[in-house]
Amino acid sequence: MAACAVIVTVEPLLLMLLTRCFHLSLLQEGLADGLLLLLFLVPTLCFALIRPLEQQVARGEALAAELAQSRERLEDRVAERSAELHAANQRIQQSLEKLERSHRDLVVLREMGALLQVCRDMAEAEPLLQGFVRRLFPNESGAVYLFRASRNVLERAVEWGDAHEAVTLAPEDCWALRSGQTYSVAAGEAKPLCAHVQEKGRPTTLCIPLAAHGELSGLLVLSKLAAPGQEDGRPMEETVTSLAAATGQKIALALSNLRLREKLRDQAIRDPLTRLYNRRYFEESFERELARAERRGACVGLIILDVDHFKTFNDTSSHQGGDVVLQNVGQLMMRAARSEDIPCRYGGEEFALLLSEAPLDVVLARAERLRKSVESLQATLRGQLLSRVTISAGVAVYPQHGTTQSELIRAADRALYDAKAQGRNRVVVAQTPGENEREASLIGAEIEGS
Ligand code: GH3
Ligand code: MG
Ligand code: MG
Repeated sequence: MAACAVIVTVEPLLLMLLTRCFHLSLLQEGLADGLLLLLFLVPTLCFALIRPLEQQVARGEALAAELAQSRERLEDRVAERSAELHAANQRIQQSLEKLERSHRDLVVLREMGALLQVCRDMAEAEPLLQGFVRRLFPNESGAVYLFRASRNVLERAVEWGDAHEAVTLAPEDCWALRSGQTYSVAAGEAKPLCAHVQEKGRPTTLCIPLAAHGELSGLLVLSKLAAPGQEDGRPMEETVTSLAAATGQKIALALSNLRLREKLRDQAIRDPLTRLYNRRYFEESFERELARAERRGACVGLIILDVDHFKTFNDTSSHQGGDVVLQNVGQLMMRAARSEDIPCRYGGEEFALLLSEAPLDVVLARAERLRKSVESLQATLRGQLLSRVTISAGVAVYPQHGTTQSELIRAADRALYDAKAQGRNRVVVAQTPGENEREASLIGAEIEGS
């Protein structure tokens, strides 16, 4: 509009000036008027039409650039979000794996506890324990130590991995046993290592005392070598530490129950004074041995022995002196027995030894050796030497002297009676059933003759 106003006012003034200056004809005046109009119109048109167009184009370009920028930003944000999502996904995956692992570990732990509870003794429990700790700690090495009866040394009962833990250790070798609490040292950490840990490679170690019902029964040791080039290793992972604590508790509880059951079983089958088997256990074992021997066509040997003039020990050295003699004879009986034999305190100062798969000559030799070892026994009470101890023994063997328990015991008892009658401190073999009958008929004939 402004341009049009300029043209409308300026153009007639210029035309008037031109007509006055150059005395133009009407045609020339018209031409000049046209030219002047053109002269004003072109730039005006340019100014009024092209500039806005250019501005529009520039605005369009700016908008496009802005769009491209926001697209880039959007793409960046999408990439960022994708990375975040990926990381979150990985975290969830890891937690899921952790959960799965801890569930698996719990199942293994429960299975271990249940099986250990039904083990008869430590000999049965040890290989079982070995398999389970391997499964629970496949990336660590370790060992389970148990206190010896003396309680001043712990013995390695189980070992796994490649750390090669010490075979025995003293309680003072381990900080965990000293303090009664878990003790852990990270590789390279400025903390004293337990004396039982092999220093090579400075491993990360975790020692857990095994305690249940207020009784310390052993030690669980876990160790892990630092990766090469990673001297300052991290401590044991949290999951491993808590699993080790739970495993330690389970093992301690199972060991304590096992010990208790062993003790009760021991009390039920052993004589408290001599530690030999009691009569009930002997009789049960006797039946089993006879059945086995019958199946295999094997022999079973039986020695019944009695301390000679035992009453004199009680009379001269009090009951305590008599008990010492019984304990000493019991020890010699244990020494005379193989692992498969059953040494028993039959009652009072009478003992029995059942020998599986032993023929007569072997049984006789064993009885003779036992008699000699008792004869050379030097029993003391409060430093005082007791008088000489001797035994008399009767020997019977399945199937020569009988086929049932009562037949064999009767035969051995009769032989023992004979040994006493013949002057004591001797071994007599039972008579075979045929011999008995012959002897009985001889006695009968003698009676008839007289
Ligand atoms: P023999 O040579 O004929 O076998 O004579 P003995 O004195 O050994 O036999 P007897 O059967 O006359 O006496 C056995 C004694 O053993 C009687 C009993 O007081 C004693 N006795 C039985 N059991 C025990 C025990 O557990 N401790 C002690 N100190 N004495 C016991
Ligand atoms: Mg006697
Ligand atoms: Mg007797």
